[in-house]
Amino acid sequence: MTKVVHKFGGSSLSSAARYQAVANIILGQCQAGDCVVVSAAGKTTNTLVKLWQSYVQKDDNGFNDILLQVENHQNQLLSELFDSQQANALSSQLKDELQSIAKAAKGDSLHEATLLAHGEIWSARLLARLLSTLNVESQDVDARTLFTQHQGQLLHAQNKQACLAQIKADKIYVVTGFIASDCDGKTITLGRNGSDYSATLLANYVDAKAVSIWTDTQGVFSTDPRKVSSAIKYPKVCRVQANLLARLGNPVLHAKTLSPLKDTNIKLQVRSSFDPEVVGTEIVKQGYSKDKRFITTFDELDLIRVEGLAVGEVRTLSQLIQHSIHHFNKGGEDYLLVPSKDTHAVASHLAGRGNIVESHLRGLAIVSPSHETAHLTQQAATVLEQQDVVVRFTHSDGSYALFLTDQSIDSDVLAILHDKLVNKGRELAVIIAGLGNVGEVFVEQCQKQVEKLQATFDLKVVALVRSKEMLFCPSGINIGSWQQQWRSEAQAYQPEDLLERIGELDYENKVVIDITASDAFSNMYPSFVAHDCHLISANKYAGTAEQTWYGKLLEQLQERNLHWRYNTSVGAGLPINFALADLQNSGDTVTRIEGVFSGTLSWLCSSFDGSKAFSELVLEAQSMGYTEPDPREDLSGRDMQRKLLILARDLGLQLDVDDIALEPLMPVHLADGNWDSFLAKREALDEFYQSRYEQAQSQGKALRYTGALEVDAQGKVSAKVGIAYAEAGSAIANLTPGDNIFVITSQWYESNPLVIQGPGAGKEVTAAGIHSDLYWLTQKLK
Ligand code: ASP
Ligand code: MG
Repeated sequence: MTKVVHKFGGSSLSSAARYQAVANIILGQCQAGDCVVVSAAGKTTNTLVKLWQSYVQKDDNGFNDILLQVENHQNQLLSELFDSQQANALSSQLKDELQSIAKAAKGDSLHEATLLAHGEIWSARLLARLLSTLNVESQDVDARTLFTQHQGQLLHAQNKQACLAQIKADKIYVVTGFIASDCDGKTITLGRNGSDYSATLLANYVDAKAVSIWTDTQGVFSTDPRKVSSAIKYPKVCRVQANLLARLGNPVLHAKTLSPLKDTNIKLQVRSSFDPEVVGTEIVKQGYSKDKRFITTFDELDLIRVEGLAVGEVRTLSQLIQHSIHHFNKGGEDYLLVPSKDTHAVASHLAGRGNIVESHLRGLAIVSPSHETAHLTQQAATVLEQQDVVVRFTHSDGSYALFLTDQSIDSDVLAILHDKLVNKGRELAVIIAGLGNVGEVFVEQCQKQVEKLQATFDLKVVALVRSKEMLFCPSGINIGSWQQQWRSEAQAYQPEDLLERIGELDYENKVVIDITASDAFSNMYPSFVAHDCHLISANKYAGTAEQTWYGKLLEQLQERNLHWRYNTSVGAGLPINFALADLQNSGDTVTRIEGVFSGTLSWLCSSFDGSKAFSELVLEAQSMGYTEPDPREDLSGRDMQRKLLILARDLGLQLDVDDIALEPLMPVHLADGNWDSFLAKREALDEFYQSRYEQAQSQGKALRYTGALEVDAQGKVSAKVGIAYAEAGSAIANLTPGDNIFVITSQWYESNPLVIQGPGAGKEVTAAGIHSDLYWLTQKLK
């Protein structure tokens, strides 16, 4: 059985580099027995249409020019993708084909569909060859040998047989989209942009499990993401809405694409060949996803009223103009929305029964859950009026509303409409990982917070995740009694299970809140982002990961318009990251940050007064739970080093952990061996600390353990974590034991620095700090 049919459109094959990218996707995602359906490369079909027109118009010069253009384009692809021997062979085959085209044109025997078919034939041949050079067993297949149509109807039984006879489980089949043949073996096409339809047809015939339509957008969006940056990519869209969008001319899916999937369980996905790791949109059966809101726009349409419209006539007309036609009935009359350039053809076909009501219309359609349509229609009318957009015709039925206007709907108006109509009543799915000290308090505080945010946001905690078990509930966990639900429903999981469940969530927005201290969990961030999750972390690992990984994560977040907050990874709830962002956003330049960012080290240094040995104090702190289980972890200074790195990156500096000099608060050799061996040598720690303490005292200063980062006028960065002697009376010398402190020097806070000080640890303040990040996120999404 064929597993998956992948379809790559023209934009995915527009250059040699794109072919290579497609080959990589196939290498990564396809198995023998899968099919790949291809369109013509780039705009080849448009060029061939022009070639046909020049033939019809008997414009010989034009014809020859265009033919040459086609040849050059193909040859360029060949020379960039193959070694000269292979390129030459393919090129001479191409030359033969072009010569027969020219000959047929001369002999007046050129046939339109046969001419257009070349685009797909070439791209299938080229891709199959490319795969072979990459040692992938593959073969190109001319779909005219698979799909036969008679009097406008595909011969399904016969086609199915042909497909099953040709397509086996032994290799990857690269099948031409767009084309088929009639009973006499003559070429026909399935309509412009018909390759999606070819893919779903093929999937139906070979009983495929899934179809992936690879295109140049990341999925199905609430509106055109190129025009409105806040457009929402929906993880799931139901077939009925997708079909309606297609009929309304939304370019992501084409009108006939869905019909072969009717009454099957074949999955359909829309994905971007430019970002293959991003999870796209799944088109699901009715009832498997909530209805969503969309705004789709159109240009250059004519509105035709038809008398005595016959059954099947819309289909015939669509076939005639090779374009889908939206049909609706208003006040007992039938209307068609036809691309202006095709009105003539449609009108002549209707022979007097078609009445052009309005021409050269633009406008938009709002598709929404039916209970919202009336309300949204009203809102849209108000916005259009406020924006001085003249509406010439409206129509609404239960599931959508049409506004046909004079002017095009420009990006600004579309953004306002989108803000008012779509960006509301938004949902946020919250995934909370880590239910230790802080995590439990965070969840406790959640109930109140969720209620508070509920006014503007439909926020649901859908998952609670521990290292080995998770509780996943897409409709939302009852946070007041989660322990109970946990006991009965929590399940063991692997990272892939978690990702799969996240991938299935049908929410507009998702956030993963990482309150673990796990390096392994932070390694999943790129996968979370690929599943369109925002991130909130208290965990420091990702923020201090190696620069290339970190930089890539930031890039990935930015590309997908996702946010990452990590306010509590430094100074718990203290608003240090906010302050740094705020200063920089308002035009200030930070030149120095110094401070104590470890509650433990703060407590130890500020409490020490010489009355007892330093190691005594360390053991005391340990018994009160102020330290890591092995306090040497604190004394090593590594935690502060990481926090300083996070702050440095907040200033836009590209550093790695090792770029920050580190001097531990103990003799280096004490780091070796187990805890007992340390205890046996604790006097060495006491001597180490005492000598430095006395030195500081002799200078009238206080011994502190600090991190300091400085950027000089030339942009040179120095960063260090270690022992420092603080001036008596300074904020750092006066630090309350246990508090964190950040002393920020900037252009504006130059002689008198900005100080942020307070508890930098503790489960309540940390949990509250995470809520502050969550609140920030909801405000940002609003
Ligand atoms: N190459 C054809 C066209 O441009 C079919 C397709 O792209 O799906 O219409
Ligand atoms: Mg196309």
